[in-house]
Amino acid sequence: MSSSQGDDPRRRIPRTDAVLTDPRLAEAAARLGTPLVKQAVLDAQSLARQGGLDPAQVPEAAVAALPSAATTLRRILNATGVVLHTNIGRAPLSAATVEALAAAAGYTDLEYSVDTGQRARRGRGTMASLRAAVPAAGDVHVVNNGAAALVLATTALAAGQQVLVSRGEMVEIGDGFRLPDLVASTGARLREVGTTNRTTLADYENALGPDVGCVLKVHPSNFRIEGFTSGASVAELATLNGGAVPVVVDIGSGLLSPDPLLPEEPDAATVLGQGADVVTASGDKLLGGPQAGLLLGDAELIERLRRHPLARALRVDKLTLAALEATLAGPAPPITQYLHADPDRLRARCERLSEAVGGTVVPSDGVVGGGGAPGLRLAGWAVALPEPYAVPLRRQDRPLVCRVERDRTLVDLRCVPESEDDTVALMIRSVTDAPSVEPG
Ligand SMILES: *Cc1c(COP(=O)(O)O)cnc(C)c1O
Repeated sequence: MSSSQGDDPRRRIPRTDAVLTDPRLAEAAARLGTPLVKQAVLDAQSLARQGGLDPAQVPEAAVAALPSAATTLRRILNATGVVLHTNIGRAPLSAATVEALAAAAGYTDLEYSVDTGQRARRGRGTMASLRAAVPAAGDVHVVNNGAAALVLATTALAAGQQVLVSRGEMVEIGDGFRLPDLVASTGARLREVGTTNRTTLADYENALGPDVGCVLKVHPSNFRIEGFTSGASVAELATLNGGAVPVVVDIGSGLLSPDPLLPEEPDAATVLGQGADVVTASGDKLLGGPQAGLLLGDAELIERLRRHPLARALRVDKLTLAALEATLAGPAPPITQYLHADPDRLRARCERLSEAVGGTVVPSDGVVGGGGAPGLRLAGWAVALPEPYAVPLRRQDRPLVCRVERDRTLVDLRCVPESEDDTVALMIRSVTDAPSVEPG
């Protein structure tokens, strides 16, 4: 017994604290924190204990298994051609915005004036930027996301009362997010008017009464009804009861002013000009910023929303305020470039990529995605590879997520920064060179 014990590799597994003295692991512990590094060591020891690793290799294996950051969120390359996708974090932020985030990460003058040494208004710079971007708004407020903006508006204006909504706007906006459920959760009662395809001003007029807190108009951002349809315009709704009923318009995507590329997307300036009292929108869709909910409109109503007790529960942190301000005041966000990408330029990039890695250059339409501009096709190109490429590309250290369509993997460069084209080529080459995939 005793002689064979000396041969048992499990007895040669180094102790955890001994492994942790490895300079590479000590350095990683300073950067990532001890628990993550220790876990990598424990995993390697466990593998060695099961005979899957030479005990002498435990430090090496732990180093190889170290995470690159203290978060499990990974940077991915978006080769889907979908500009805004909720599953992959909607809008990517500009370099200026990332810098603003870093600057705000520590102590910052969020609610403090360094001039007076006194408390100052939270997020004042961000609100000033938003007001400057939409001069038609009497005042503005920012909450956690578009849904929160809608909740705050309907709670403050209609809790215990009715909210009039066209039946054609009783929509599900994203995965399980149903507008009627959301508004009902605020204690307001939704009252449907009109029919699924047609609603007139008279339908709203007939429903008016002392119990109506506000009228809500929702942009059906992720579908289109075509044919025999009509709805009351914002301008018409603004006349209800002599203008005495607040009109809340959820435009969804966060366009602040019209974009000729997206003629069917409502924008805040236009909708306010038509007489909306409060406009709600998301920060991370067509605005191209961080997750946030924008509220713009009549100064008195916005003040009411800001002072509502619920506002405290929906308020945004310093990181959101910093990122939103940099999005508004800084250079155009990446999504602007992706939406307006020149097809010829995309084609040239695809041809270069195809020369390097094979595959075929094919026409490929991009889409706005994220529940915006349904039906709009953005003309572009992609490199078509055999279908089996999709999974290994997705499983790279930095995943390359492509679109799989009709048995092909489409690498669409629309939402890939041009500076990453060579990285994409290397990734595809590494899959081609791996024994498991047959290049087409
Ligand atoms: C996306 C969207 C919302 C929800 O906004 P979030 O920022 O995702 O909470 C609400 N209404 C409309 C019309 C939308 O398009």
